[in-house]
Amino acid sequence: MTATWSVDTEQFYQNVVKVKNGNSIMAVVKNNAYHYGLEFVVKTFLKAGITTFSTTSLKEAVKIRSLAPNATIFLMNAVYDFETVRKYQIQITLPSVEYYYKYKSDLQGINVHLEFENLLHRSGFKSLDEIKEVIVHHQNNQDNRKMNIVGLWTHFGYAEEFDVSEYKLEREAWVNVVNTLLNEGYHFDMIHAQNSASYYREERALLPHHTHARVGIALYGSRPYSNLDEREINQALTVKANVIQVREVNRGDYCGYSFAFEATKNHTRLAVVDIGYGDGILKSRAKHEALINGKRYPIRALMMSHMFVEVNDEVHAQDEVILYNEDIRIDEYTFKGVGANSEQLSAMNHDSLIKEYR
Ligand SMILES: *Cc1c(COP(=O)(O)O)cnc(C)c1O
Repeated sequence: MTATWSVDTEQFYQNVVKVKNGNSIMAVVKNNAYHYGLEFVVKTFLKAGITTFSTTSLKEAVKIRSLAPNATIFLMNAVYDFETVRKYQIQITLPSVEYYYKYKSDLQGINVHLEFENLLHRSGFKSLDEIKEVIVHHQNNQDNRKMNIVGLWTHFGYAEEFDVSEYKLEREAWVNVVNTLLNEGYHFDMIHAQNSASYYREERALLPHHTHARVGIALYGSRPYSNLDEREINQALTVKANVIQVREVNRGDYCGYSFAFEATKNHTRLAVVDIGYGDGILKSRAKHEALINGKRYPIRALMMSHMFVEVNDEVHAQDEVILYNEDIRIDEYTFKGVGANSEQLSAMNHDSLIKEYR
């Protein structure tokens, strides 16, 4: 008995089709496709008709190229290995005015997307004036070692937030950038901005003039914000372990390392379960429950490769203990404050868990 991480591949595919909703999607596959596995994910997305991918690492971009020879691949991070970018036909972000002036001839033949910084302040041009300065300089540049401007993009930092007005502000600032440039006669093959939250806030539609929504987490089966119906997005991942013993303890007994849990009544039944933080279960997740035989029981202590779950006499050795599946979802715990969806997914230790695609 070993804890397993498994994906129902058909359910994963069906969710992708549902999220796509007939739109053009640039699928975000960074960090090994949110830990779902780059190869499985890229193949499934291709099958669902997604042909545009985006990541933050050049190494992953190169791997995507081998999986999808004809795809459009967009690298969101600033990079400096221009040879590799050209060789694998990766499109890249143009992250600042300084970068443009410094590398404009190194960028020869590379397709770039102009990035607008907006409220996140992680990367991009500070203003419409900066964007125009670069476009005009590029148009007037007589050097034949030149990049190609093919895209315009931004990233929203507040699309998950409903109690503040920042999303409205960043959205307005961005719409103004797009409209002004288009009204002045500039053309872009690709315009993209929306992450999962923004895509769902616009009712699974693209913003005006946009060619793609740049979606991650929804494609992987987790909701970006809580007031979205669970049926809109389906989780195909199951993480489960096993009861290896059930032990009885009495009132006042301390269980686990360093007084982790104190039994408050006699004949307390503790299931010893073969999964722990070493397998990627977050400490914050262990403040909640696990699902055994269709019923939720409280986790009482978390150790490296074990946990204690307080159970009743319906639970026995060898019963399955579910930490995540479609009934006890990652996004439920996101909204209970355990950590971002991607944080819970990224924590999973794929070297210690058995990994299965069913
Ligand atoms: C991760 C990321 C996305 C996707 O965000 P989700 O919330 O997972 O949909 C989009 N754009 C950028 C720049 C990102 O870093």
